[in-house]
Amino acid sequence: MPTPAGATCPLHPGVVAVDVCERCGRFVCGDCTVLRDERTRCTECAAAASSPSTRATLALVCGALGFVCGAPLSLAAVALGRIEERAIDRGEAPREGLRRARWAVRLGAMQLALVSLLLVSFVAWRLLRERLTGSP
Ligand SMILES: [Zn+2]
Ligand SMILES: [Zn+2]
Repeated sequence: MPTPAGATCPLHPGVVAVDVCERCGRFVCGDCTVLRDERTRCTECAAAASSPSTRATLALVCGALGFVCGAPLSLAAVALGRIEERAIDRGEAPREGLRRARWAVRLGAMQLALVSLLLVSFVAWRLLRERLTGSP
């Protein structure tokens, strides 16, 4: 990210900033630049946000277990994933959890769609059978 002319590092007064932290937007000098997943971070952000939050992980676990345990866990995965996505948007949760949250929502939604499809086809099958075998 380009820096405006004359921008200096807040931690090293007088040292020209070479980049901007992509998480907090602070100017960083060469010494303060940390690369994380090819993104520029200041030293503080690099230390603060390095692993996904527990909620992101929990959401993904619910999403994975939903295949075995059914709709309640799928719902939990979608809800937790959405809450986590919003928290990340507001900068309240580490961005590293975004991929987990998105997958949790995707998996949960997939399972819910599958369950509704099964329900609909079951009802359709019952109706069809009733019509075929039922009395005129
Ligand atoms: Zn930062
Ligand atoms: Zn610096």
